Formats: sequence, structure tokens, C-alpha cells
Amino acid sequence: MSEKKAVFFCSASFNIDPKYNQAARETVRAACLAGYSIVSGGSFRGTMGAVCDTAKECGAPNYGVLPSFMEGLEYEGLTELKWAPTMSIRKEMMREGVSMAIALPGGIGTMDELFETMVLAKLGRFKGRIGVLDLDGFYEPLRALLDHFVDAGMLTPEDRALVHFASTPDELAKIF
Ligand code: AMP
Repeated sequence: MSEKKAVFFCSASFNIDPKYNQAARETVRAACLAGYSIVSGGSFRGTMGAVCDTAKECGAPNYGVLPSFMEGLEYEGLTELKWAPTMSIRKEMMREGVSMAIALPGGIGTMDELFETMVLAKLGRFKGRIGVLDLDGFYEPLRALLDHFVDAGMLTPEDRALVHFASTPDELAKIF
């Protein structure tokens, strides 16, 4: 059987409420229990560090992809670290072979990764599931924006439905 991989898009910030990293850990643990290998940005920074720590604790294969200009930010102890020449290629490499993409609470980097994945899904170029952890309403503005796009005819309801929002790690795990 081929390896099941899930990619996690998440914050690189250290300056966030610890509840986000706690929820990240629960979500990654659920993915590991469901048999996924974990792919992330591969840095020790912010929630990425929590994702990598959890994958390591669970004994799941733990892959990271960093752009070469971020040398020095890599998480020590990855199963495999890949270097990407650019941020754009990094996103492609992070998605390689994954059947699930999860956005945890994050900022513009996370949104960049999520939106590119949504566009590819809409165009039939990404076949995996897409989940968003809307912990404590963190992504309420994003849901509202997507609904607004649908209302304005800029996004079809079918494409809007490509993204599964869940408010807890347990609820998100239902799509694993
Ligand atoms: P953000 O959501 O803005 O914190 O960006 C986090 C996401 O963008 C991560 O998934 C990374 O892939 C990428 N990223 C942004 N900033 C960094 C950074 N300083 N170190 C490593 N990756 C980063």
C-alpha cells in the first residue's frame, strides 16, 4: 500500500495563544493515528515546531520542505528534509503525494498555501481533501469571505464545498 501523507499549513509565529499549538498537536496526533505521514514547512518555528514535535512523538514519518534561503530554521529530527529553490516550488513540493491538506490557524503564509491548494482543487489539479481548523471561530472571517464570493458569483457553491471547516480537532478528524 502506498504511503498516506497529510500536509499541514500553519503559523510560523511564536507570538500566538498556546491554544493554537495545543489544537495543532491534537489534530496531528489524530492524523498519525489514522495512519498519515506528516508533511510541513519543516521549520522549528511556531506551530510548525508543534506539528513536527507531535509527528516525532507519534513515530510517524515527518517530512519538511524549506526554501534554501531559510537555512538555519530547519527542525532537527525530521525523517527527511527537502530544500526548495523558491517559496512557490516549496508549496508544490509540500503537496507532492499528499491526499489531505490541513490549514491550522495561521497568517498570510498559511493563507497563501491554503488558497493555492484551493485553486488547484477547483481546477482538478489537487485531488486530496482540504480541511481548515476553525478553532474558536479563528477562520470566521475567511468563511464569511468565501460566502461573499459565492453570493457575488465569484465562486461556485461546489468549489466552496471543496474546503471542510471544523471547529475542533475531533470534528476535523472525521475527514481523515
Ligand atoms: P504564516 O501563516 O504567515 O505564519 O506563515 C506560515 C507558513 O508560511 C508556514 O506553513 C511556512 O510554510 C511559511 N512560512 C512563513 N514564514 C516562515 C518562516 N519564518 N519560517 C518558515 N516557514 C515560514
